[in-house]
Amino acid sequence: MILIINSGSSSIKMALIDKLSEALLAEGRAERLGDVQARLSWTITDQVHDMDLQGARHEAAMLQMLSVLFCHIEKTGIVAVGHRVVHGGERFVAPTLLDDAVIAEIQSLSHLAPLHNPANLLGIHAAIKHMPEIPHIAVFDTAFHHAMPLCASLYAVPYRWYGEYGVRRYGFHGTSHHYVGQQAALILDRQFSDCRLLTVHLGNGCSATAIVDGISVDTTMGMTPLEGLMMGTRSGDVDPGLHDFIARVSGKTLAEITDVLNRESGLLGVSGRSNDMRELLAAADDGDERAVLAVDIFCYRLAKSLAGLAVALGRVDAIVFTGGIGENASVVRAKTIELLEMLGAQLDTVRNQRHGQDSNGFISPCGASLPVLVVATNEEKMIARYVSAIVNAQENI
Ligand code: ADP
Repeated sequence: MILIINSGSSSIKMALIDKLSEALLAEGRAERLGDVQARLSWTITDQVHDMDLQGARHEAAMLQMLSVLFCHIEKTGIVAVGHRVVHGGERFVAPTLLDDAVIAEIQSLSHLAPLHNPANLLGIHAAIKHMPEIPHIAVFDTAFHHAMPLCASLYAVPYRWYGEYGVRRYGFHGTSHHYVGQQAALILDRQFSDCRLLTVHLGNGCSATAIVDGISVDTTMGMTPLEGLMMGTRSGDVDPGLHDFIARVSGKTLAEITDVLNRESGLLGVSGRSNDMRELLAAADDGDERAVLAVDIFCYRLAKSLAGLAVALGRVDAIVFTGGIGENASVVRAKTIELLEMLGAQLDTVRNQRHGQDSNGFISPCGASLPVLVVATNEEKMIARYVSAIVNAQENI
């Protein structure tokens, strides 16, 4: 078995995956860490175990999570741990076995992802402490995008900023884009290393990626996960002059403005109502004009970005939707694809309404020149695949 750990600033999520069958054996989460309402919940072979964590922080919560797990699962059956790490910078271009030097390097990249890498490291330290006898492997959100060409990864700013400060586009959600890209190739009955895909991950965070022959050649998120598409609470692209303007007219600091762009913008900011697409679609149906506008901006900007990414592909073999919105919001897919007629994209209304469930993921008409697919993402499974490959390689040394 492989244990997957995703440690965030106030939560730890775990998934236990069978190494051979890739089946999910157990799923756990500790939430509101550090808060009096901190709680832990495990689903292990269909049984739910809930408990109060009494304000526990990462290390104590990790200990509790592992003790519950090891009451039901033989600890010695776990052969490795995979840790999600958000930012690998330019240093980490593939999943990497963790040791003190690698941990120090991840730490040194924290300035690129101050909200994420330190929280990821808390989980790594705690897990290694409680399971020192097995390999721990870091899987980076940025790694899948490491080979983007310079024309896609550099900004048109002084070149020295790249060398001095690491200013470039890194991209995120790599594990998800890689997974759904591979799955789409299987569905299309083609080699992943021989197709050109637009993968569209629409969750709370949203990004789209252009994949050529198994490699990400461009993506919408950039130096930080704020660039690109409109998201639940994130603005995506804005005029770079906006910070200065808002600072002058409102007196806010740069940090406060960045916070508004991260937490109070996107679907929430425009609708003034919610960051949740389900709620906005229901409100739009009830005639809420701002909800309609939020959904329209979301789809328009998405379509515009996909058309832009098509430049990186030259030829588009398929468009693949994933994530909570991508997998479930047929209206969002329909509005977006309607705007992409110039790429030859079309939907089959019934297939789209059924999210491709009865058509092997296809939501485009039978025989369409540009297949459009819905593929459920599974980042835990993909991390388990990466970890498995490293464990197998070690065994073969
Ligand atoms: P995260 O990025 O946190 O993993 P998800 O991938 O679960 O998030 O996506 C969350 C988004 O998916 C929310 O905006 C939610 O409203 C949307 N979503 C989930 N189910 C549906 C649905 N049936 N219809 C429309 N939107 C949905």
